[in-house]
Parts: sequence; structure tokens; C-alpha cells
Amino acid sequence: MPTVFEILHKDAAGRIGKLTTPHGVVETPTVMPVINPNIQTIPAHEMRSFGAQILITNSYIISRKDELREVALKDGLHALLGFNGPIMTDSGSFQLSVYGDVEVTNEQIIDFQQKIGTDIGVPLDIPTAPDVSRDQAESELEITLERLKEARSMVKEGMLLAGPVQGSTYYDLRQYSAEELTPHNFDVYPIGAVVPLMENYRYAELVDVIVASKKGLSPVVPVHLFGAGHPMMFALAVALGCDLFDSAAYALYAKDGRYITTSGTYHIEDLSYLPCCCPVCLEHTAEEIKKAPNKVELLARHNLYVTFQEINLIKQSIREGNLLELVDMRCRSHPSMVEALKRLYSHVDWIETLDPASKSTFFYTGPESGLRPEIKRYSDRLGRLEIKGKVLISAFPIRKSEEYDQYLRFKPPIGTYPIELSEVYPFNAEVPESIDYEAMDKALLNTIDLMSRNADAQFTFICDESVANHPRFTELPENVEVIIRGSSDAFSSQL
Ligand SMILES: [Zn+2]
Repeated sequence: MPTVFEILHKDAAGRIGKLTTPHGVVETPTVMPVINPNIQTIPAHEMRSFGAQILITNSYIISRKDELREVALKDGLHALLGFNGPIMTDSGSFQLSVYGDVEVTNEQIIDFQQKIGTDIGVPLDIPTAPDVSRDQAESELEITLERLKEARSMVKEGMLLAGPVQGSTYYDLRQYSAEELTPHNFDVYPIGAVVPLMENYRYAELVDVIVASKKGLSPVVPVHLFGAGHPMMFALAVALGCDLFDSAAYALYAKDGRYITTSGTYHIEDLSYLPCCCPVCLEHTAEEIKKAPNKVELLARHNLYVTFQEINLIKQSIREGNLLELVDMRCRSHPSMVEALKRLYSHVDWIETLDPASKSTFFYTGPESGLRPEIKRYSDRLGRLEIKGKVLISAFPIRKSEEYDQYLRFKPPIGTYPIELSEVYPFNAEVPESIDYEAMDKALLNTIDLMSRNADAQFTFICDESVANHPRFTELPENVEVIIRGSSDAFSSQL
């Protein structure tokens, strides 16, 4: 099979990639607006003007309605929707799981998607919801795996084929599911049945589901977080290696009078001002939108603009190497997102294996910055540093002189490092003056570790009281000479 996905830039476990489909190349990460084939809140042919490169619709709904099916079979899916770019179609497995009495087979669904010219087709998997019994999750997963393998044997060329990863909230099943699918070379791997987690703000568990699924997949395949459409959580999901999202939210929220922002959702009735500069918000006041006969359409348009604006910001952050700073910012908007941020860093061992070693500048934006992969990487490599003779460690900027054999800088949350590395990532970190407890603790632990690994060296540690008063400071080896200074006399003549 030719490679359909090429990774161009990376940050944390996130990436910018190019996905090649029969109707063109898509740059990821991106969102696929969901098009309802019955009623298009915003016409499909207008979607490009918002930044959409690829759409998603439901092949099951098209196949069930005579007038849609006939046009799709005769003129093709692209003519039916009025969009000549890539289109993914869902199989309708969600609809079938809800209204399960309709007779339709996996084979029929795959065959129909091929006939209407879908770019990315999805087999008839079983989207097992969170919290079901282990037995149910296992037995449904086995049926899903069988159907996916059957679909793979049917689709050899033309349409790309998605292999959804299922397994409910059993993380080992998610990983197993991903591992079982990998040898079959699906083109896109959706992570399925996570909508109930998002609806209930269970973002920390969503992080675990994504990581378990990703661990079972090859790192070079595109991953679609199925049903994720709120821009508040895109940065988090991208940092974990998700490349595609789909948004029905833009239209569903609009129908409900809801106005999306990257930090949460407002009801339009509660807004006196519009905190956005999209064309809709520039041309209307909040009062005008509330009273407009096309209120739903206006809200849907705003919701889409915000959605793609966030995608562009995420891509720019990946290019600059500060995606984790953006994730930190987005995760401050809700307590359950803070929980998700902490959960993300509980997987730092895995993220560290994917995170590029060199970026521009490390910005300290909160206590979780001390948990970042760069800090872990440095802690793991402390043993590589060889420290000898008279050694000065300074919490203040220093210049070298003849007095000491080696000069080291102390900076939370990193710890202690040779001053020669000061301009190198991540030692070039920008940190606030008053540092929090955890970051100081991390830095002191690394420093103590460095000292005990080089017990023959003679250490002098110059710092201020904010360092010396930390409880961890008492654990420094006894033979370390400590000089406590105020920050104002940092550049003494002695240095
Ligand atoms: Zn707007």
C-alpha cells in the first residue's frame, strides 16, 4: 500500500501531517464538519471558506432515503453534497446501535460507500459505550475486529479505509484493539465511542483512552478522535497525537442557541458582548443575533470560524514548538480539563519518546510545566554529566572565572546544568521569579541527584532564601557549602 500519511512537523505527541485522499491532500490536524445530508445548516460548498478541507457525512442516512440514495449512486457523493474535496462517510454504526432493528450488513455498507465514491469509508463496527461490563466490551470488540478485517479484504484500492479502535473504557482492550488492527494497514484509525466521555466532562479518562489506543498503533498513522468537535479540547487531543476531528457540534450547539469559544460555551441569551472577531461577530451585536430569524445559521457560522481558528493556532504552536504551552492555557478553563492536563503528564514517559528534543524556548506557564517531557528527559540523563573539582552552582546568572573548575546554573523546574547549555533548549526556559512548590522541589531533587552522583566534587551553592527555605533543601549533602544571598547582590565582585 502506498503511504497516505506524511508527517511534516512534530511537538509533544502532536504533528502536522499530509493525508492523501482520492479527492486531494488534507493538512492535519484538521476538523471535518459533519454534513447532514437532509438539512445543510451551512451548505457544503461554502465549507472551504471557513477553512474546511474535508467533510464527513453519514452513508447510512444516504442509503436509507430513496431520493438521496439514487442521486448518490447515479452522480456520486460529491455531487450530492456539492463539494469536490475529500469526503469521509460514517457507516451508521452509531445509528444502528441506537435503532438496532434495521437489517444491514457490513458488506452492504462497505459496498455502498465504494459505489458512491467516498474518500474514506468506515466499516460497520460496534461503538461500545464507556462503563459496560468487561464481557460485553470483549465480545463486541471481537465482532468489530472481524468486521474490520472483512472490510479490509473487500477494499483493495481507491477508497481509503478507516479501522476504528474500540474497547470501551478498558484501556488494555483499546491497546489490544489497536495492535490487532495494525498489521491490516488501515489508512486512518478513528478512536471510537468517546462522545459519552466528553459529554460528561470525563476528559482525564479520554486522555487514558487516547494514550492506550495510540500505544497500540504505529506512530506514523493518522488518528481520528471520532465525535470530538469542541475546540476547547483540540490542543489537548492533538498533543496526544490525534490528527482528525469531526464537528457536528458547530450545528448542534447552534440549534440549541449555544455560542462556542475556545474556553467553553455560552448561551447566546446570556451574552451582552461577543468575544470574537469573526465576520458574524463583527457584523452583528449579541442582541441582533438573539433576534435574527437566521439565528441558528449565524451561530453555526461563528462556531465554525472559532473551530478553524483554533486549528490554525494549534498548527502554528506545533511549528513554534510551544504546543504544550497552548495545552496548558486551554486546560485552565475547566476543572475537568485541569484534571486532563495532569493525566496527560502522567503519561510523560510515552510522550517523551515522541517529543522533539530541540525547540525554541521553554515557557514556564504553571505547576504542570515541571512535569513536561523535557524535564523528565533531563532528569533521566543526569548520569551523563561528569562533574569534578571545585564546582559553583548558582541560582543567579553567573560568568565564568578562574576560581572554580566548573560553573553550573540552578533553575527551577529543570534543576542544575552546566552554564554552557544556558542558551540551549530547554535550559533557555523563561520562568517566573516566584516559583511554585512543585517546580522548586523538582529542581532540588535533580540537584541532589547530581551531587550524589558526583560525590567527589566540592560544591558551593549560591541561592536566595526562596530556595533555601524549601523543605527539600535540608536533603543537600552535608559537605555542600551554602551561600545565601538576596537577589540584588547577585553579581558580586567575587563572581
Ligand atoms: Zn464569532
